[in-house]
Amino acid sequence: MLIDLHNHSCLSPCGSLEMSPARLVEEAAARGIGMLALTDHNAGDNLPAFAVCCRRAGIVPVYGMEVTGREEAHLLCLFGDLKTAVRFGYEIYENLQTIPNNPDRMGDQIIVDEDENILGELEKHLAGGAVEF
Ligand SMILES: [Zn+2]
Repeated sequence: MLIDLHNHSCLSPCGSLEMSPARLVEEAAARGIGMLALTDHNAGDNLPAFAVCCRRAGIVPVYGMEVTGREEAHLLCLFGDLKTAVRFGYEIYENLQTIPNNPDRMGDQIIVDEDENILGELEKHLAGGAVEF
């Protein structure tokens, strides 16, 4: 089985606006990937859409995040359970340093549903600061 455990969606400022969870899953399916993780920076708001897209495509989902620690290390955090991952994402975002995102300079941070409808965007810059507990 092909496995890919490090991917960003349009929620990550480094990810392209076109890279919705639906598009990510579609491209993974075309490459024959059987297990796929979504690991956006410091937030998990696109994980529910990712779960639906994986179910539709018959891909085993892994719910994740790329968390920036205080020492600037990027930690890939992976969960088998959607609810736990989403809850973890809210906690990470809440404890992320507040650096306002500027979409023009830093990139978009878009939350979408499984059909690529825009649900909102996150205001703190997700790849800028560190998480402080
Ligand atoms: Zn990454």
